[in-house]
Amino acid sequence: MNKPASVPDQFDAVVVGAGFSGLYMLYRLRQLGLSVRVFDSAGDVGGTWYWNRYPGARCDIATPDYTYSFDPELEKEWTWSEKYATQPEILDYLRFVADRHGLRPDIEFSTAVTSARWDEQEKRWTITTGRGEEIRCRYYIMATGCLSMPKSPDIEGVGRFAGQVYFTSRWPHEGVDFTGQRVAVIGTGSSGVQVIPLIARQASQLTVFQRTPNFSIPAHNGPAPADRLKQLDEDRDGYRHAARWSRLGVPNEPTDVLGVTASEAVRRERFEAAWEQGELVGIVSVFADQLLNPASNDIVAEMIREKIRSIVKDPETAEALCPKDHYFGTKRPCLDTGYFDTYNLPHVRLVDLRKQPIVSITEDGIETADESFGFDAIVYATGFDAMTGALVAADVTGRDGLSLKEKWAAGPSTYLGLMTAGFPNFFMLTGPGSPSVLSNMAVSIEQHVDWVAGCLEHMREEGLDTIEPTELAESGWNQHVQDCAAITLMPTANSWYMGANVPGKPRVFLPYIGGVDAYRQACDDVVGQGYLGFRMAGPGGARCQDGVIRSMQPDVAMVLDLIAALGLPPMETLSADDARALMAATAATRPPGPEVGEVTDGVIPGPAGDLPYRLYRPAGPPEGPRPLVVYFHGGGWVLGNLDSDDPLCRDLCARSGAVVVSVNYRHAPEVRFPAAALDAFAAVQWVDANAIELGGIPGQLAVAGWSAGANVATVACQLARDAGGPHISGQVLICPVADSDMTRLSYQENGDGYILTTALMRWFWDHYADPADRGDPRAAPLRGDLRGLPPTCIVAADFDPLRDEGVAYARALEAAGVPVRFDRARGHTHTSVTMVDVIISGAPVRAGIGEALRDFFPSAEPQGI
Ligand code: NAP
Repeated sequence: MNKPASVPDQFDAVVVGAGFSGLYMLYRLRQLGLSVRVFDSAGDVGGTWYWNRYPGARCDIATPDYTYSFDPELEKEWTWSEKYATQPEILDYLRFVADRHGLRPDIEFSTAVTSARWDEQEKRWTITTGRGEEIRCRYYIMATGCLSMPKSPDIEGVGRFAGQVYFTSRWPHEGVDFTGQRVAVIGTGSSGVQVIPLIARQASQLTVFQRTPNFSIPAHNGPAPADRLKQLDEDRDGYRHAARWSRLGVPNEPTDVLGVTASEAVRRERFEAAWEQGELVGIVSVFADQLLNPASNDIVAEMIREKIRSIVKDPETAEALCPKDHYFGTKRPCLDTGYFDTYNLPHVRLVDLRKQPIVSITEDGIETADESFGFDAIVYATGFDAMTGALVAADVTGRDGLSLKEKWAAGPSTYLGLMTAGFPNFFMLTGPGSPSVLSNMAVSIEQHVDWVAGCLEHMREEGLDTIEPTELAESGWNQHVQDCAAITLMPTANSWYMGANVPGKPRVFLPYIGGVDAYRQACDDVVGQGYLGFRMAGPGGARCQDGVIRSMQPDVAMVLDLIAALGLPPMETLSADDARALMAATAATRPPGPEVGEVTDGVIPGPAGDLPYRLYRPAGPPEGPRPLVVYFHGGGWVLGNLDSDDPLCRDLCARSGAVVVSVNYRHAPEVRFPAAALDAFAAVQWVDANAIELGGIPGQLAVAGWSAGANVATVACQLARDAGGPHISGQVLICPVADSDMTRLSYQENGDGYILTTALMRWFWDHYADPADRGDPRAAPLRGDLRGLPPTCIVAADFDPLRDEGVAYARALEAAGVPVRFDRARGHTHTSVTMVDVIISGAPVRAGIGEALRDFFPSAEPQGI
């Protein structure tokens, strides 16, 4: 091309990377009629499959799934030879795709992009390559893969070894013959597990240096699974659709079998089926709760360890190969072909670096704390600077001179894993914050490329030429990504998912674990809501629909979906008795809550007859008296009883270390206002008077309640103050009914959809109190005199119609001089915080409540849960 040296090439888009994602991106951009240049430092297409040429390298998603779906003709023309294709075959496939669509002319190989700088004036990126070229483009797209930047081995003396050195991630094209050699392999992740059995076939001695044993299951490679091929033959579109809307990007019926409750026979049957199937998708889905519940995870983990022990003959080696320091699935599990068997060969030895760490690489081998080893070759299978390494390495500078490396110094921040604020027109394919490495990459890549192409098309149609996420949308997404991870066991492991394999890398969960289907829905919803959270501008004008696409806690959303699927009648359409029966029926199947030391039932003399109570005493020491908490259940003064809030009471008891006395009060409509409040006060008086008999410490008494129970609890505090006693040390009000005004914003925002609706709240009020009584402070405590009330902990949930009255009550108490601890249950509904062992994200909120209760009583000690 002849052009003056000073005029840079101009393209609509520059793409970095010619692997799975870059090739398809190029194809789609061309379809849009855009001019595109793709750069890749490799000598050919293939991305990860170009570089990782080590013997044994194969995909570990079955080939019917690990394939492009955008071109039906291509699908017909290409036949995979195996269930898990080898690296050469996958590379051939990508070459075939590139040739079939004539993609190569737009790709510049053996050319690295060294820097990219946003020009705010021109609204363009300036790209510089390792060849010294300067290119201008409107859109800059990183298709650099998640596992493409090798981690430099953080081992003393790496450069010293005089023999041959190989990296699985940069394997020589001409191959390596290890025949007759003494070979060391460092690393037992997916790459190590694949390469070790094949090196063992050639080497005269193979020594494997293992720092962390990994879970691996046999791949059972062979022909592609017949059932998948049949389904594809019969309904290719249906099959691909199912993959796109699955959790992992592979059609797979989700299970609802829980490891903790399944019988031993069911557990064994499900595990053996997954072991035989030899697919990651199967082994990570044996039980619905295996990545959530440690006990369930242990069942799968122990069954895998049993298998390892049954394969490896030397018990000491077998034990060293059994992973015990992380939950199954929290580090990427491996698929293998004869991996554990390899350790039965006489010339193969495992060195457990937990027992004898490497001191240094030496000139002729490796020195550990106990031994010196001599080698002819060392193979590093030590992994990658995953997900962010390749992105920050390319020196990307956005608006105001901010580099991506600087912006991400404390961990990556993205909107949907696609873009990041401050870097207009900069897209990442399968970036951090997207499902990527936790899914079938082929499906996730196509989804990302299609989304970006759709976005660029939309911009062109609207006369827009810049796009960038807002800070609000981005921080909301980051929060959602972390919320999704937090309810799983994933953050507990020192994995590359957490950045923990690279010294100094911030410890942040990098991919999105909410599922391919949930993620796709979020991306679609963003578009459906006018590109929510994106700022777009151009000759067609400027627009920004700002907001957060997912702010509900993921497990809360999941439970709401499950409840909606039951199709239950709205409570407010039922009689009080039918509503009570429905509530009892739904409560019957939930987890029981934590064990406590002792549970006893009794009765309290109330103003109009006996009131039943249930007393919970914490387990463990100290043996003597404890502080007392009188608790009142929720249920709109109409529903609920001692059973309805039993798991919550157990939880509060265990967390606070106090004796909890849960009191049933008279219900409406049989007995209306102010009976419930008067019963509550009477109960507090009685518990205080009988503190010693109840195992309590006299004078150390708090009240607590949820919803209408919080209403009567705080009314009891007001009555106690007015009556001059008893002394109450503190009150815990969980999503309280504090007022009868149903016009606050939280009613407008949340009155329709989250179990407690405006209609239901109206139904409760109608049952409980005449309109004329609803302004009485004993019904609407916010309207009372708040001075002199005890220290208060108030929890208000984001998606609760009562949220704003909880907030208003907290403010009013503070204004009246009452010490207030206000906890916002972020992403929760009126009911979700109380769903013990169902909604995991509620546990930190209840931990805060436990802390507040302990603060009321300096002597309290939790039993620990
Ligand atoms: P990896 O999973 O990060 O494994 C690296 C291994 O090297 C680990 O055993 C690690 O031990 C060890 N290691 C790292 N630094 C070390 C040091 N200084 N001293 C001693 N040991 C050290 O990397 P990988 O095996 O290349 O796999 C990375 C990911 O790529 C996989 O999880 C998978 O997602 C993908 N992959 C896929 C395939 C496939 O499709 N079949 C094949 C290969 C890779 P620690 O665990 O103690 O850190």
